[in-house]
Amino acid sequence: MLGSLTKTIKAAALGKQYTTEFPEHRESLPDSYRGRLRLDMSTCISCSACAIICPNQTITMVDVLTDKGKKVMPLVGHERCLFCALCEEVCPPKCLTLTKSYDYEAYDKRELLTRPEELE
Ligand code: SF4
Ligand code: SF4
Repeated sequence: MLGSLTKTIKAAALGKQYTTEFPEHRESLPDSYRGRLRLDMSTCISCSACAIICPNQTITMVDVLTDKGKKVMPLVGHERCLFCALCEEVCPPKCLTLTKSYDYEAYDKRELLTRPEELE
């Protein structure tokens, strides 16, 4: 916080632009940062534990067609996600994980509904 304020004051004093180009330049994120979810469809066992544990009903199990036939896997509504990581903790094969990605801007919240195939 203080670092950002110092940068802003220095930039203002020098008459420089303070904002940085995005997405070319990105802030470094803390190790504890939790962002967009990722799913490894090849190891998901369709147990639904992630959907059951989610405190905000963010995950819906939906049909997907895989090499091994039809299965159910999580669809994530990122607009509702609390990034609490309970789904990651409970997932038996650890195939559902939180990443450091924060690129999920949208004009309509329905665009943030992410199907299993898009979570890979
Ligand atoms: S991080 Fe928390 S809120 Fe988000 S999908 Fe997982 S359990 Fe639900
Ligand atoms: S992502 Fe993990 S917890 Fe969710 S259905 Fe697949 S194996 Fe189960």
